[in-house]
Amino acid sequence: MSIWGNVRRHLGWKLFLTYFAIIAIAGMVFATAAELHMPVAFERHLAAMTKQMGDAATLEQDLFQNFRQATIESVTLGMVAATMLALALSLYVSRRISTTIRRLMLAARRIAGGYYEERIRVDERRDVDELGQLAVHFNQMAAALDRIETRRQELIGNVAHELRTPLTSIKGYMEGLIDGVLPAEPHTFEKIRLEADRLQRLVDDLQELSRVEAGAIPLNLKPVSMSVLITSTVEHLRPQFMDKGVSIQTNIPPSLPKARADEDRLRQVLLNLVGNALQYTPTGGQVTVRAWAAAGFVHVEVSDTGIGIAPEHLPHLFDRFYRVDHSRSRAGGGSGIGLTIAKHLVKAHGGEISAQSAGLGRGSRFAFSIPIA
Ligand code: ADP
Repeated sequence: MSIWGNVRRHLGWKLFLTYFAIIAIAGMVFATAAELHMPVAFERHLAAMTKQMGDAATLEQDLFQNFRQATIESVTLGMVAATMLALALSLYVSRRISTTIRRLMLAARRIAGGYYEERIRVDERRDVDELGQLAVHFNQMAAALDRIETRRQELIGNVAHELRTPLTSIKGYMEGLIDGVLPAEPHTFEKIRLEADRLQRLVDDLQELSRVEAGAIPLNLKPVSMSVLITSTVEHLRPQFMDKGVSIQTNIPPSLPKARADEDRLRQVLLNLVGNALQYTPTGGQVTVRAWAAAGFVHVEVSDTGIGIAPEHLPHLFDRFYRVDHSRSRAGGGSGIGLTIAKHLVKAHGGEISAQSAGLGRGSRFAFSIPIA
């Protein structure tokens, strides 16, 4: 970087050079005055004096007096010029610094007051020193706060919306019972219990979500046999597959290396993906769980022949509360949080998770990777 580039970027250099320039300017003015003005003035007086050439004492006194006058004149001139220049330079630099600081201060006060959309105007060509960078970082901080605030509001809205539905149902059943419209039979109570179950699941999911989002779930990382984990998870869910009439199979090479993972958390991810595959695959369909190792990772893929996902929904599947078909998954008890939790858990392991689908009615594939132990 050039010296000028350095000076432009560093406030310390700017201040140092300003004071240095003030001293140098003063020195230069004095020197110029001494070099240019003094000899001229002195010569003028000498010329006048040679005309008089009277007695030596008067001449000496006059010479001395004139020299003093010429020096005072020159120094005064130099002082005035140096002061003006120094004043202009100091004013320019201090105004630039104080204006930026004042803008930062006002913006910080507004942000503290909750106006997260507040930004500082930054001139990309001029504001390249530390103060300019401070303004840029301040704007980035304000933008981050703004995003967090928007997400917080969204979250409250979403939670309220999710809680309202089962609560409205429970209230409806209760009113029906009180008014005698609904019979006080086990069937009615069972419906109320189902809604309460859904509320319970939602609250549990929300709690889990807040913990994973805050990174507050400590991972107990150990070498985990993915093959054992997949097989046991599939066996655990097999009765539900049989009930629905969906077949499930696994495809795991015997040489599959162990993954470095928290077994319980990994099972949670698998249960979510295989559970979703079951939920979104109609009777007669098929679900396959494959695993393989590549590029330092163990990869797991859960594919199904179910309802599939339209391309426009794919990028949002891992956003919290995102559901492709609200009515369908609500009926199935989904709150759209499961994949968000799965994404956080996989990322905490240092892996990736992704979703693919050839389109509606053409099945889906969810794949994730975990580092090899
Ligand atoms: P939910 O609890 O609603 O299933 P998830 O976060 O697990 O929440 O899934 C989000 C959404 O992704 C679901 O509502 C559903 O629309 C879609 N989805 C997830 N898995 C599948 C799948 N195997 N086939 C089709 N759609 C799926």
